[in-house]
Amino acid sequence: MTGPAQQGTPFGPADPYRFCPADGTRLEEPRPSGGVSCPSCGRSWYRNSSPAVGAVVVEDGKALVTVRAREPEKGRVDLPGGFLEVGEHPVDGIVREVREELGVEIELTGAPILPATHTYGPDGAYVLPIGFRARIVEGEPDPTDDVAGIRWLTSSEVDTTDFAWEHDRKMVREALEEV
Ligand SMILES: [Zn+2]
Repeated sequence: MTGPAQQGTPFGPADPYRFCPADGTRLEEPRPSGGVSCPSCGRSWYRNSSPAVGAVVVEDGKALVTVRAREPEKGRVDLPGGFLEVGEHPVDGIVREVREELGVEIELTGAPILPATHTYGPDGAYVLPIGFRARIVEGEPDPTDDVAGIRWLTSSEVDTTDFAWEHDRKMVREALEEV
């Protein structure tokens, strides 16, 4: 599917901003650090990865994964989670996402899981994934519209499951190894 973002002037995920996002002033070449300053308002602009959070809910040695109800990657497996909102703490973000997608309250267990940065979408935008091992403290998983269903994976099923994204597989594997 081609949308407006794919037409016209190419704009790669690591290309510097050409115009100030605040006031539209044409920007010069970026400094070696990657930042570029607006000659009009003085603000500095950087291209960064977008932070995204994912939860691996573990219960009785099994990890909860979700089956995607929508494109992209409809029917394949991923983890509950999503992109952080502006200014949102990662822990608040994952608690919110899991509540929205599964209708349960979680509590985080253990240290964050940090797989490599990856790309997402037709433009290959960079995403910084942050994984959290978690357990359900209230409610039964009741998938909402974005989720077709849930599955509980044992560690022996992780390699053969049809994950939409490899970083989710890595997070599940790592979370189950901690058990
Ligand atoms: Zn400006």
